[in-house]
Amino acid sequence: MAAISLRNVVKKYGKGKQELQVIHGIDVEIADREFIVIVGPSGCGKSTLLRMVAGLEEISGGEIAIGGRVVNQLEPAERDIAMVFQNYALYPHMSVFENMAYGLKIRKLPEAEIKARVDKAAGILELAHLLDRKPRQLSGGQRQRVAMGRAIVRQPQVFLFDEPLSNLDAKLRAQTRLEIQKLHRELGITSLFVTHDQVEAMTLAQRMIVMNAGRMEQFGTPEEVYHRPASTFVASFIGSPP
Ligand code: ADP
Ligand code: MG
Repeated sequence: MAAISLRNVVKKYGKGKQELQVIHGIDVEIADREFIVIVGPSGCGKSTLLRMVAGLEEISGGEIAIGGRVVNQLEPAERDIAMVFQNYALYPHMSVFENMAYGLKIRKLPEAEIKARVDKAAGILELAHLLDRKPRQLSGGQRQRVAMGRAIVRQPQVFLFDEPLSNLDAKLRAQTRLEIQKLHRELGITSLFVTHDQVEAMTLAQRMIVMNAGRMEQFGTPEEVYHRPASTFVASFIGSPP
């Protein structure tokens, strides 16, 4: 069974004369535990697509299923997903531990379970020695790892990333990419990762969705996309050899 399936998914913003269709019938089946990158130029509809999977944006047509269950009408909290954004807001007055534990406290998990989950995530993300610090005492990269930790502790079925690295400098971006790959190796959570950066897409993706103007131009492994681009758009966007 596909972990995530999109069937003829359409998105229109606005009504009447203001109506603007930004997603034009996307069909894709993503397997369990896959790491998928959605890549395309700014404004092509990547965030819109991701936000529809997350339940943060209503879909105008088609169907989205997660784990075989149609989620069109479900709230984000009912979809068993966690999302990591570019502008991760940590609670400034809380410690790293409290930031990571907060969502679990709200869900009233037992203290011991919360501690076990936070400790495990902190281990994977190399945050174990920072659990007592406040966000202002952390570097940008460390803060981003706390934001990821907050998502991991929820043990979601699906991870959604919307350009989580674009605020980081090149060195930190490369390092955080490695963290994300390690995270995926260790936890094997089905992931959708949005970026406009071809290099990032090629390094992270098991398979990638190349988007242009609200349409899926190609869905394939980085090798396939690079060596057998489905269109001239894909070839020039990815920089395939002529
Ligand atoms: P990307 O993430 O690839 O940069 P977006 O999904 O943010 O693209 O945007 C896709 C298109 O939809 C753009 O033309 C954008 O201007 C438009 N758009 C995004 N959000 C809204 C909104 N809330 N209302 C109207 N138009 C929007
Ligand atoms: Mg975007």
